[in-house]
Amino acid sequence: MPQPSGKTAWDFMPSDWKLVAGRWTPPAGFVPATQLEHARLGTLTPEMRRVAQREPHLTPAQVRDEVAAGRMVIPANTVHRDLRLDPMCIGRASLTKVNANMGASPVSSGTDEEVEKLRWAERWNADTVMDLSTGGDLDRTREAIVRAATVPIGTVPIYSMIVGRRIEQLDDEAILAGLEHQARQGIDYMTVHAGVLREHLPLVRDRLIGIVSRGGSLLAKWMLVHGRQNPMYELWNEICAVLRRWDVTFSIGDGLRPGGLADATDPAQLAELATLSELTERAWANGCQVMVEGPGHVPFDQIEYNMKLQRQLCHGAPFYVLGPLVTDIFPGYDHITSCIGATAAAYHGASMLCYVTPKEHLGLPKKADVKQGVIAYKIAAHAADIALGIPGARDRDDELTKARAALNWEKHFELSFDPDLARAYHDEDLDVDTDFCAMCGHDWCSVRISKEIVEFTSGKADAYQWEQPRVTDALSPAQREILEQRGVLEPDEIHRLASKTRATMRAREGHKASCHSDEAEPATARRLQSEALDPVTLEPLGAPPAARA
Ligand code: SF4
Repeated sequence: MPQPSGKTAWDFMPSDWKLVAGRWTPPAGFVPATQLEHARLGTLTPEMRRVAQREPHLTPAQVRDEVAAGRMVIPANTVHRDLRLDPMCIGRASLTKVNANMGASPVSSGTDEEVEKLRWAERWNADTVMDLSTGGDLDRTREAIVRAATVPIGTVPIYSMIVGRRIEQLDDEAILAGLEHQARQGIDYMTVHAGVLREHLPLVRDRLIGIVSRGGSLLAKWMLVHGRQNPMYELWNEICAVLRRWDVTFSIGDGLRPGGLADATDPAQLAELATLSELTERAWANGCQVMVEGPGHVPFDQIEYNMKLQRQLCHGAPFYVLGPLVTDIFPGYDHITSCIGATAAAYHGASMLCYVTPKEHLGLPKKADVKQGVIAYKIAAHAADIALGIPGARDRDDELTKARAALNWEKHFELSFDPDLARAYHDEDLDVDTDFCAMCGHDWCSVRISKEIVEFTSGKADAYQWEQPRVTDALSPAQREILEQRGVLEPDEIHRLASKTRATMRAREGHKASCHSDEAEPATARRLQSEALDPVTLEPLGAPPAARA
C-alpha cells in the first residue's frame, strides 16, 4: 500500500516568504487572507477556536497546526462568515464529515424547494451542502442558499458559466468573472476541474462509460473543439488569486472519476490524480486552502489503495470522495451500495463523504431522498470514526446501549439519531412503556430476562413466575398504512399515524402498562423479596445469611 507523504503544506510555501531563524516570514506589508495564511503565521482565528469548541478532542492550537500543514481546511468564505455560517473543519484529525448535494435541474425544482432541502439537510446534520443547480434562476437560488445556510456551501462554478452560452464559447474572462461572482456571493468551497488535461483524453477511450463528471466532460469537449489545454489548468495561478481573496477553499475536481466498477483505478483516473497533486502544491504556494475530490465507483478491494494513494500524492490534503459505490446493479438503493464504500473510504483516508441518495443515476433527489442519503452517510462517517478511535466518538453509542439494557425507552429514543422514527417503529405495535418490545415479545425478551436476573433480589421480578405469553393484536389499518409508506413519510407524519396499543394494553395515559415489572409497589416488592428463594440454597432470601449458608 502507498505510504503517507513525507511532505506537508509547509514544503510548498509562497516564493516570497523567507525562513528566518526557523520561522516563515512573509514579505513586508503582507495581509493574511486565508485560514492557511493565518495558521502559517501562528494566529488562532475565531474560526479555529469555534472548530475546537465543536470537536472537543482538538485544541485550537491543534486545529491551527493541522490547517498550517494542509491536512485540514476550514471552508469559511469571508462573506458567509459574516452571515449565518457556523465554522467547521474537514481533515483526518477531526470527525468525518458528510456533504449533501442539492440544486434545481432544468426539468425539476426551484429556489424555494432548494432552500427547503437545505434546511432539511441541516436538520439531519449534513456538515456541508453543495448547490449543483443547472436549471431555474441559478443566481437567485445560490444567493438564497448562502443566506440561509449555517453550513458551508460548495458549488461547481462551471455550471453557471455556460448559462446562455455553449461550452465552446467559454473563455478566460468568463471563467475568472464566474468564479469571482460566486466568491463575492459567499460560496465557501468550489469544485474546479483543472486536473483533466488534454493528454489524458486518449486514456478514456477504452472505458465502459467514458467521462461521467459534468465538469470533466464539458472541459474535455472544450479542449477537443479548441485543440488547446484545459483553460482551468492554464489559469490556475489566476484562479488561486480569486479564491484566496475571499478565502474560498479549493475542492479540486476529479473530472475523470470512474463512472462504473470496470473503469475504477484506470490509467485516466491515476493520471488525473497526479495532476491534482501538482495543483494542490501550487494552490498551497498561493496561500489557498485545498481539498481534493475522489471517486466514484470503486470495487471494495480497491478502496484502501485509492485512499492511500491520494494521501501520498496530495501530501495529506483532505480527500473528499463521492461514495464510492461498490456495485453497479442496485439503482434505487445506491445510498446503500455507496455508503458501504464510504465507510471503507473514511476508515482508510477520506475526510469528507459526499452523499448519494436513492435517486442517484435516476433523477433529481426530493426531500425524502435527501434524508435517506444524509442518514446513510452519517452512519458511514460515524462507523469509521468509531473504528478510527476518535476520542469520544463512541460515547453516545455506549449511552444508548445502557438505555437499551435498562429497557428505558424514553432515553433510547432520545439518544437515537432519528428519535421520531425510532419511537414510531416501536409504537407501531406497542405504544406503551413495556419492558420488552414487539420483536420478541415478553417471554422471549433476552434483555428483560437479563435485567430480571440482575434485579432478582429487588423483588421486582415477581419470583420468576412464568406468565402467559402476551399476544398483541394484528395490524390495524393505520399501521398497515405506515408500513406501506415507510421511507416516504416524514417522521412527524409517521409518529402521528403510529398509535394503537395503549388501549389494548390497558395502559393509563402517561403510565406504564400493567405488564411492566416496575409496576410492583414498594410494599409488594418487599413482600416478594422476603418470599423469594435463593436460587442456590432454596432458602427464603429474607432469611439471615447464616441460615442460607
Ligand atoms: S423484545 Fe427482543 S428486540 Fe425487543 S427489547 Fe427485548 S430482546 Fe430486544
